[in-house]
Amino acid sequence: MGEFDLIGRIARRAGHRDDVRLGIGDDAAVLRLASGHELVVTTDVLNAGVHFPPDTTPGDIGWKALAVNLSDLAAMGAQPLWITLSLTLPQADDAWLDDFLDGLFDMAAQHAVMLVGGDTTRGPLAVGITAMGSVPHGAALRRDGARPGDDVWVTGTLGDAAAALQHWQSGGHRDVALRQRLDRPQPRMAFGFALRGLASACIDVSDGLLQDLGHIGRVSGVGADVWLDGLPASAALLRATMPGQRYALQCSGGDDYELCFTAAAGAREHIAGLSKDGVRAARIGVVTAATGIRVLQADGSLWVPGRAGYSHFD
Ligand code: ADP
Ligand code: MG
Repeated sequence: MGEFDLIGRIARRAGHRDDVRLGIGDDAAVLRLASGHELVVTTDVLNAGVHFPPDTTPGDIGWKALAVNLSDLAAMGAQPLWITLSLTLPQADDAWLDDFLDGLFDMAAQHAVMLVGGDTTRGPLAVGITAMGSVPHGAALRRDGARPGDDVWVTGTLGDAAAALQHWQSGGHRDVALRQRLDRPQPRMAFGFALRGLASACIDVSDGLLQDLGHIGRVSGVGADVWLDGLPASAALLRATMPGQRYALQCSGGDDYELCFTAAAGAREHIAGLSKDGVRAARIGVVTAATGIRVLQADGSLWVPGRAGYSHFD
């Protein structure tokens, strides 16, 4: 299989959208944005050996490469529309490619996203996706709007993916539900839409809650107190960890792909009642005028994390 056979194999499955005037096959794609809307663009690369364990299936790699990008759009409150795919492969293996595309296009179909272009090269496995979406003019959720007194919220549960990664690294306990959270994250798309006009700031939790909430704090010029025993945990995580052991995973583990957001206390009832695709939000703390993120235990004493989160060049 040559480069153009590879591209043809990908292009056949690209999907369809009426707002794509020109997709794969020309020098660039031509896309039509609905009037009154703004374009929201994000890109993320997954590298073998850095972003997924070597035993990850091609289908899971395809799914996750797209899911992490859609999670960024969810954190902006954006409707996903189009993607491009930069694929670097060590060899042209059609079985590998078809499995990869199965996972990728499963995720794409769930959100009616169309593949409109990309690039294909040879080298160590890397998958780069650029995702484009739209929001009504001025409606994007940003990181810089948190105000002292706002509530801090997080969707779903935290720590599952980090537990799965830790189990894989230690060669110990395997739990299918936890591993699923690592390999097949579900971007909180519908929750992101619902938060437009409601959240004062929003971020997706990809590198650890404390680190990502820290980004909101820094650009908003505020801090936050987070209640340790308020962090939402799945039944699978509670089963897989000793009491107290989950907190480090929940505060500083990565790959959660939940939304962490702030909102005025007046929106509390409304947000507490939201349920999107079976996902709810938990209130986990409060925004403070004092900068820095503090984690408080039930008795009010400070809990000190081992590290805030993941950073590539540390
Ligand atoms: P160029 O040399 O102009 O960059 P390419 O030969 O790289 O063109 O690509 C030809 C067409 O195939 C372009 O429309 C490009 O967007 C598309 N394409 C290439 N690789 C991919 C890919 N991995 N996924 C989707 N589209 C791709
Ligand atoms: Mg090219």
